[in-house]
Parts: sequence; structure tokens; C-alpha cells
Amino acid sequence: MPKPKVAFFDFTCCEGCQLCALDLTAEQLLDLLAVIDIVEFREAISEKSDSFDIAIVEGSITRDSDIPRLEKIRKTANLLICLGSCSCIVGINALKNFQKTEELQNEVYPDAPHRYETSVARAVDEIVKVDAIIPGCPINTLEFVKVVKNLVLGKDPDIPTYPVCIECKKKENICVYEKGIHCLGPVIRAGCGAICPEKGGYCFGCRGLVPDPNLDSMREIMNKYNMPYDQIDDRFKLFLGRNKEIFQDVQ
Ligand code: SF4
Ligand code: SF4
Ligand code: SF4
Repeated sequence: MPKPKVAFFDFTCCEGCQLCALDLTAEQLLDLLAVIDIVEFREAISEKSDSFDIAIVEGSITRDSDIPRLEKIRKTANLLICLGSCSCIVGINALKNFQKTEELQNEVYPDAPHRYETSVARAVDEIVKVDAIIPGCPINTLEFVKVVKNLVLGKDPDIPTYPVCIECKKKENICVYEKGIHCLGPVIRAGCGAICPEKGGYCFGCRGLVPDPNLDSMREIMNKYNMPYDQIDDRFKLFLGRNKEIFQDVQ
């Protein structure tokens, strides 16, 4: 049976997730290439192709002119996978939605505010159907390999639906709330190995919310640990600004 052809595409992002997808050992790469053929991947090969089975899409949609390109990719691919927070949940690109586009253009390009097209930052699934996500800013490389292989083999992508706290507790980390640090781990999708709290930081939400998160309880806990409610929203804003459960009134 021929291997499925895989093509990578990028929209508005830093392309760090594509770099992470390349951060494989020779053995891991050979393992992946045993099940797929890569036909387009701007960061790794110069070839391009209009024919592919699986599209891996990185980046947010921030220009109306991106939409026909994305729709064409969707029409060609049997499966479309979102790669990274910019693509899955908009992530840090959603910060621009808190300011009027006109104001942003004047602030960034005061001499020529309309030189570059821009609009509200959107996730890929706001424009086309998405078959699977690989969350994170950046992604976890091993999770990328697992999701791609699972999909090729007709299995569930197997992305965790439980929160970061589960991974954090399994590692026996001391909860950073005990050190006076506020962490979004209780409502954020696991899969990163709780790397930020493990390294002495806190979860700022880069993998997006778990399904059915208890946001009211999350706010109550943060407030109980002395974080004012307006600062809680700022913490959510960094990666979850496109989430309508949290920010209903944002464009
Ligand atoms: S999710 Fe983060 S690392 Fe990945 S492309 Fe976007 S900004 Fe870069
Ligand atoms: S440090 Fe964060 S992720 Fe870890 S247990 Fe505490 S709240 Fe959960
Ligand atoms: S701990 Fe939170 S912010 Fe850090 S990588 Fe995991 S999901 Fe992202």
C-alpha cells in the first residue's frame, strides 16, 4: 500500500512548531518516514506538491486573503491536522484581537498603516474542518510523531483530555501555589509533561483548555491565592484570548 503523502503549510506564526517537528533523532525520523512520504515542508525540503493526503497546518488565519489558500488545502487533503497553538487556538496571535485593527495598524506602521493586510486572528477550525490537533507553543515533538502515526494507522490521535495537574502530580512536583505562584494547570490540556511547573515556572495555558473546564473554580482558586480578578483575566489572555467562554466581547 502506498504511504500517505504529507504536506506542511504555515500561516501567521513563528514556525517554531515546524522546527520542533524536525527535532527528531535519526531513528525517530526513519520511524516516521516508514509510514509517510513528506512532499512539501518549507523548512526541510525545497520540493512542493499540489497533491497530498494529509495537510499539517501551522499558524493562525490573520488575513482574509489566507482563506482561499486554506480552503484549497482543505479540499485537497483527506485529513487536516493543526500544528501548534497558533493554529489550534490562535494562542498569542489572539492578543491583537483585543485592540481595534485600525489602531494596531497605526501603532505598528505609523507611516503606512495600510501597507500590509490584516484582520481578526482566527483559528484554522473557524474556517475549515479540522481532523486532529497537536497543541502547544511549541508542540511536543514526540506527541507530533504519535498523532501522525496514529492517524495514518486509522487510530484515535490520542491527545490528553485531562489537565496538566495530573502530569504534574504524577511527577510529584510541589504545587507552585504553595510558593505563591498562580498556575493554570487545573484547566489546561496535558501532554507537555507539566514542563513549566516542573522547571519552577507555572502553566500559562499554551495547550489550550481541557474539554469542559471549570473556569469559575479556577478563578476562585487564583483569587483565594491573592490574585485580583482583573489579573486573572490577563493570565488567561496570553493564550486563551480567542476563547469565547472567557472573552465573550472580543472581536
Ligand atoms: S504555537 Fe508557538 S512555537 Fe508554534 S508557531 Fe505558534 S508561536 Fe511559534
Ligand atoms: S503546579 Fe500547576 S500544574 Fe502543578 S499541581 Fe499545581 S496547579 Fe497543577
Ligand atoms: S505547562 Fe502549560 S504552558 Fe507549560 S508547556 Fe505545558 S501547557 Fe504549555
